[in-house]
Amino acid sequence: MALTASGLFRRAGRVIPGGVNSPVRAWGAVGGEDPFFAARGEGAYLFDTEGNRYVDWVMSWGPLVFGHADPEVVEVVQDAAADGTTFGAPTEREVELAEELVDAVPSVEMVRLVSSGTEAAMSALRLARGFTRRDRVLKFAGCYHGHADGLLAAAGSGLATLGIPSSPGVPAGAAGDTVVCVYNDVDAAATAVERYGEGLAAIVVEPVAGNMGVVPPEPGFLEALRALCDAAGALLVFDEVITGFRVARGGAQELYGVRPDLSVLGKIAGGGLPLAAFGGRADVMDELAPSGPVYQAGTLSGNPLATAAALVVLKRLRDPAVYERLEEAGARLEAGLREAAAGDAACVQRVGAMATLFFREGPVRNFEEAAASDTDRYAGWFRHLLARGVYVAPSQFEALFVSTAHGEAEIDATVEATRELFGG
Ligand SMILES: *Cc1c(COP(=O)(O)O)cnc(C)c1O
Repeated sequence: MALTASGLFRRAGRVIPGGVNSPVRAWGAVGGEDPFFAARGEGAYLFDTEGNRYVDWVMSWGPLVFGHADPEVVEVVQDAAADGTTFGAPTEREVELAEELVDAVPSVEMVRLVSSGTEAAMSALRLARGFTRRDRVLKFAGCYHGHADGLLAAAGSGLATLGIPSSPGVPAGAAGDTVVCVYNDVDAAATAVERYGEGLAAIVVEPVAGNMGVVPPEPGFLEALRALCDAAGALLVFDEVITGFRVARGGAQELYGVRPDLSVLGKIAGGGLPLAAFGGRADVMDELAPSGPVYQAGTLSGNPLATAAALVVLKRLRDPAVYERLEEAGARLEAGLREAAAGDAACVQRVGAMATLFFREGPVRNFEEAAASDTDRYAGWFRHLLARGVYVAPSQFEALFVSTAHGEAEIDATVEATRELFGG
């Protein structure tokens, strides 16, 4: 008999806080419904434990650029597993993968492999601090860089003040070394750098924001951050965990032509397995242990299953036709959603294969503007689509992720269901 999601969710809730291993999976932001439990995936489709099939626009929050259970990925992971699942010793594929990342990402000369985006961002900031011998970092409200203490900071009151913890358990001292500015606001960043520049180790930014919904950088924003870092002697860190290999093979830095000092990679870069990375200028990366004094380590880093998956995925992403196809699919989805929602207070924002339908007038340029969206109407859209076999992100502040497995049928079904809701 099929397992009911509610039964599983109740069971889960007794042994796992909130019943899930990452908060957004509980669907709390779209209210009222127990989440489904995933049973398997195939291409653009996800099947739940009750046998329902959904067009999946979440794609594990970004990693699955070729869709679920890509046959080549499955095969190399099976083969790799047969040779041993972990060694804790260097392997040839780690070298190959590092070479692939260096080849793909314009500013990356050396790279270290880790197991999650959180770990990569946390380590990149430690390295930036170790390299500059400074403590402060500047981040932007609405950008997410994983859940390391210093990155769970919210803006204090007033412009360009030191951060306050955005979660219990984050020490005031950790958040207090983080300055939080408004995304796309060059003047605010300049004011903050003026005030804290001498102690500033790094500016960290999602070069296209994906964690407040999709918010592109305004023309000149990334260039201005580059100039502010250069003037202050701070490092520019691009968190390309989402954008890397998604908006272009070389990420947002290739698309916009701005070179960070350090880059954080994950999601697609891990080929759908737990692998992430950070890399950048060789002189900075050389400060890492064992070549330098900045400590960083990991038992499962460069895991052989993960490197096998990542290599086959990244090699296929050398083909520019993949990005043309993603752009075409993304454009079709964007145009369809925009037309379906026309006349209502809604806007679609998209960069390549990432898009968000905001339930407010556009443009959305920063977190405050994103937060002014009508999240009740978003929840209504989520539930309407779910009932019609389409699974979009269970939160307004996330992206829809296009994969090569999403064809016209899946896009058109999504648009049609949306049109039905808006009555367009
Ligand atoms: C997902 C994400 C992270 C965190 O990665 P995890 O693998 O979930 O730890 C960091 N930065 C950005 C931009 C992300 O989207």
